[in-house]
Amino acid sequence: MRDDRLAWPILLLLLIVLVPSLGMTWMMREAIRNERLAADQRLQEAYEIQLQSASQMIRDRWSDQIEREAEMLEAEQPEIDFERLVSQGFIDSVLICDDQGKLIYPDVQGLSRITAMESDPRWRRAQRLEFVEQEYDAARDVYAELSRNEGTAASRCRAQQAQVRCSLKLNETDAALVLLTQLAGQSETLDEQGRSFAAAAELQMLELLEPDTDQWNKVSRQLQTHLNDYRNPMSSSQRQFLMRRLKELDLENARLPTQGAELLASEAAAVFDSQFATPDLKLASLPGVWSRSSSDGRLIELYKTTTLKQRLLELADNVPLPINVTFVVSLPQEVSPGMVDVSLGVDLGGLRLGLQRLPQNGVDDSSQQRRAVHVWIALLVFAITCVLAWLLSIVLQRKLRLARLKNDLVATVSHELKTPLSSIRLLVDTLLDSDQDVSTAKSKARNREYLELISHENARLTRLIDNFLTFSRIDQRRQKFDFQIIDLRDVVEQAAAVFREHWSDVDSCLTIHHAPAAIISGDKDVLVTVVVNLLENAWKYSGENRQISATTSVDGAYVLLAVQDNGIGMNARMTSRIFERFFQVDQRVARSRGGCGLGLSIVHAIVDSHGGSIRVESEPDVGSTFTVQLPVANKSEKHGILAKNEGLV
Ligand code: ADP
Repeated sequence: MRDDRLAWPILLLLLIVLVPSLGMTWMMREAIRNERLAADQRLQEAYEIQLQSASQMIRDRWSDQIEREAEMLEAEQPEIDFERLVSQGFIDSVLICDDQGKLIYPDVQGLSRITAMESDPRWRRAQRLEFVEQEYDAARDVYAELSRNEGTAASRCRAQQAQVRCSLKLNETDAALVLLTQLAGQSETLDEQGRSFAAAAELQMLELLEPDTDQWNKVSRQLQTHLNDYRNPMSSSQRQFLMRRLKELDLENARLPTQGAELLASEAAAVFDSQFATPDLKLASLPGVWSRSSSDGRLIELYKTTTLKQRLLELADNVPLPINVTFVVSLPQEVSPGMVDVSLGVDLGGLRLGLQRLPQNGVDDSSQQRRAVHVWIALLVFAITCVLAWLLSIVLQRKLRLARLKNDLVATVSHELKTPLSSIRLLVDTLLDSDQDVSTAKSKARNREYLELISHENARLTRLIDNFLTFSRIDQRRQKFDFQIIDLRDVVEQAAAVFREHWSDVDSCLTIHHAPAAIISGDKDVLVTVVVNLLENAWKYSGENRQISATTSVDGAYVLLAVQDNGIGMNARMTSRIFERFFQVDQRVARSRGGCGLGLSIVHAIVDSHGGSIRVESEPDVGSTFTVQLPVANKSEKHGILAKNEGLV
């Protein structure tokens, strides 16, 4: 019942709180969104000119820059140009071509300054000794001679390389290292494929020496310098190979800033065709790589997307902008993160330049303040709505409880009063009709019987009205108790007497057991009402062979009164609710037995006001035991009440 009562005020409360809160949140969101849109609009109008001039500046500088670089190219030493261009940091890599558009760096087939392969008989003899006869000593001697007498530096170096090979086959590592050290000094000399003898010797030394020794570290540094200094000629494929090996051998110390550019260039060179040679920026056939060439086709720049965006932004860096706004470059198919943007044109691959508001520190102060005000208003409205809804729910609950109580009371009172009143009316009418005939003994006996019935109904009416009045007084806290030192046994006896008056044949079913003494402090009259109510319930809710007992006992500081019956009983769920007002386990049964659902709530209230408690144990079809527990009157109480009664205090 309690849950039903609460259901709709809670629903109402939820509606009252949720609907305005959701509405307010939506409004705030809209307000903030509009605020942002308006700010973007203002910004767009204010900075559109900057955006236009920035995009123009980017376009101009962009095409100028590659033309200038192309003019500076020196066909003689493309590797130096390569290093110069990629080490500036704003191009990921470049391809360098000659005037005919042929790729000269990276050098896929090797460089043009290749010397002819030796076809000398001394070489052939030495090679036969080494590879066919495996006479490594003899072969080494011939190679040694060649290394002294050969005409070109490259042939001498090759002979020395062959000497190293033979020494290693003879397990003479020290001798090999001496030769390699000599070779490492030949930094200018290249073999037929444009490979540097010195750099190759340095790598070989690293592989032979004990790692992390002083000498090993020295050679590693030497090779690193060798590779990073593009004035040392070597083919790009060798440089790339040596860079990769050096990284593998000395990952911690190897600093090779151009390695990425070399790799990208060699990948692009592998797929190189005329498609690269177009001045318009476009995606190359490598994934995520953009390319464009100078108008003479000699320089092809390669960009990864992030570098490209950064590069374009750098070109616009001196266009003035407020501190909370920045330029942003986006790809043609990309959703622009900016609030306004323009295309940079076909020659820039359809990329777009936009204006973007910076996050956090970039949000302008006044709009942040306005947003904060909105949020505070929303919170305030929410809080006020909650408080109002809470107050409203309390008022509603109270009103609801009162209305329900009134309804219950009116329904019960009218029903309960109607039954005895109609019986009385019927009996009185019958008596009035038979008024003349009072002579016979039979009619006298019948009249007496009717009068007794009227008196019985009258007593029932009085009890009912008493119950209503007591209930009303207790409910409105107007009941005044006259506390006295009393013996609960007297209360029980007095209640039994009243009970006997109400019901005939009580003695055959009621047994009373008394404790030796049961002194309590209480209002005798109202306690009699308690016991009468319990006895009457035991009577009403029992069958024909009723057995009712009322037992007083003392348990420590408490006096107990147990009223037991062998009646219809109740289940546990019902016993937990029977002390609620107007609660009846079965309304038809209760009403047919003259119940109005107030008895036990009155009992509970009275026991409560005496500092006691009441409990019930019951089992369907077995019976019920109601136990009232009241505190024993202590000495000071007894004294106080006696003194009060004698007018001492
Ligand atoms: P009522 O006037 O209807 O008897 P009460 O408040 O005295 O109202 O009791 C509430 C309900 O508790 C009763 O309607 C009845 O269903 C149940 N009840 C009370 N006493 C007993 C009992 N001794 N045995 C079984 N049911 C009882």
